[in-house]
Amino acid sequence: MLALTDVRVNYGSVRALKSISLEVREGEIVTLIGANGAGKTTTLKAISGLARPASGRIVFDSVDITRMRPASIVNLGISQVPEGRRVFPRMTVLENLEMGAFRRRDRQRVREDLDTVFGYFPILKERLSQPAGTLSGGEQQMLAIGRGLMARPRLLLLDEPSLGLAPMLVEQIFDIIKRIHDEGVTILLVEQNAFLALETASRAYVLETGEIALQGAARDLMQDEHVKRAYLG
Ligand code: ATP
Repeated sequence: MLALTDVRVNYGSVRALKSISLEVREGEIVTLIGANGAGKTTTLKAISGLARPASGRIVFDSVDITRMRPASIVNLGISQVPEGRRVFPRMTVLENLEMGAFRRRDRQRVREDLDTVFGYFPILKERLSQPAGTLSGGEQQMLAIGRGLMARPRLLLLDEPSLGLAPMLVEQIFDIIKRIHDEGVTILLVEQNAFLALETASRAYVLETGEIALQGAARDLMQDEHVKRAYLG
């Protein structure tokens, strides 16, 4: 479904991605783990068109998206849920969700998708006209995921959905991620919580200073000595 081949991204003189190759197959949950600054977010940004690769190729469903605009990439079926929630704080919950679907013309299906989002996150329905900035951290994370779903993606890019959340909420969010996956959405998950990530995904890549250090089945990586020492404590 998605393939990155030798992708390099620089920020000025910072070589954030040195030569990344990875793939996500339809129906998978793939995770990208690594320390702070390893290049996880940059990898997602390269896929969604927010960071421009200096070289390499990104192909989605046989279409070369390496230099496509972010809006066109969303239209092809890739939706990114950014780190740190990034909801529009002054807009209401409903307006935030509608923003996720603003390019769509199929209003009837948009309404159905709103109901789907409320099915996953009933609390959002209760908070519909509340400014998003006044939601709790967990609710903002739910809203960010809900907004991502409103684009009706086939591939959902999730950037650190557990960040800053209490353990019980993390569990709840991850249960919902699994349900979204069960409904047929392929997922590329960036997580600092390596244990949780490896438990959720079928395959994983370990990023270290802009390069892929290890890759394999999540359950194998969980047993890997280096992964255990560096990421699982
Ligand atoms: P974290 O888990 O802390 O979010 P990450 O693995 O997602 O880390 P990235 O955000 O992809 O890491 O950053 C990779 C490297 O690129 C880091 O060294 C970072 O400082 C650098 N970087 C990221 N964005 C920029 C930018 N806009 N300008 C300059 N350097 C940047």
